[in-house]
Amino acid sequence: MVFNSIKEVPVKDEQQLPEVQQKKTGVSRRNFLKTVTGTAAGIGISQVFNPVLIQALEKGLKRHPIIWIQGQGCTGCSVSLLNNVSPPIADVLLKVISLQFHPTVQASEGEIAMEHLYAVAEEYKGRFSLVIEGAIPVAEDGKYCIVGEIGHKEITMVDIMKELAPKAGSVLAIGTCAAYGGIPAAEGNVTGATGVMDFAKTEGIKTPVVNIPGCPPHPDWIVGSLLHLLEKGIPELDDDGRPTLFFGENIHDNCPRLAMYDEGELSETLSDPKGCRMDLGCKGPDTYADCYKRKWNDGLNWCVDNSVCIGCVEPGFPDGSSPFYEPA
Ligand code: SF4
Ligand code: SF4
Repeated sequence: MVFNSIKEVPVKDEQQLPEVQQKKTGVSRRNFLKTVTGTAAGIGISQVFNPVLIQALEKGLKRHPIIWIQGQGCTGCSVSLLNNVSPPIADVLLKVISLQFHPTVQASEGEIAMEHLYAVAEEYKGRFSLVIEGAIPVAEDGKYCIVGEIGHKEITMVDIMKELAPKAGSVLAIGTCAAYGGIPAAEGNVTGATGVMDFAKTEGIKTPVVNIPGCPPHPDWIVGSLLHLLEKGIPELDDDGRPTLFFGENIHDNCPRLAMYDEGELSETLSDPKGCRMDLGCKGPDTYADCYKRKWNDGLNWCVDNSVCIGCVEPGFPDGSSPFYEPA
């Protein structure tokens, strides 16, 4: 009932939310916040991201502002984040961070959303985290990726990076496309797709960058890195800018099938439940991530169980690990 009423509140009236809500529903702001927070997991994800809810909660909870921009990618990294199980994604969004902009799931759109984006960056200068999903296409003045418009002026991914990255306290490059260019930067690359670190280096942007690669990245890697950032600051990074917490171990050296590899017991088909996948193209020996113990789908399985590791977290992906199903 409360949520039905929330849907009726136009975005432009969001400043009046507590009063409007109380008048319409008879629910006090305190109870409203309690209800929303307590039942977050039960509401639709579009409602979790509803700016009306976010703004109401913003007043009651001190959280870390996040601006999430999508460049040249498939949105799979966002989908992976939304699959987070523990802590539940609704808790992360409502209690831990303050997601101020996310093109896929936010309720607002167009110029209002874009103006909000810039207003938040200004208000929280040096204190917000800029999350980048997808690569940055730099060819043709960045025209391959238009993020939005203000006053009929197109704003490219390149424009956003140049303006917001220097203002951010940290930049998180989520997914291999954002971290290293990934699939958009594969052979051909007519758009000039570039990863965040390379872009920042070229533009002289000094803001610390944390790479959380993966195609897509595991939701724990995203949420864990965000929580580390909030609690302890920038995590320890490896030479490729990845948190060693998640990317510090070699998959092959820790694989449950290593003993089979050592004994020469090699799988001949992907459907073979046993055996090392080396002859089927497994790139575990060249890959650093904790998938072998963290597993995917809430701990149910991981790539090597049913297929091979294709090295999706590595800077050379996908060209460097292609063809996926042939030995390196
Ligand atoms: S399946 Fe892959 S990661 Fe596991 S032991 Fe074989 S080659 Fe190494
Ligand atoms: S096992 Fe390999 S391909 Fe699969 S998610 Fe982990 S790093 Fe990527």
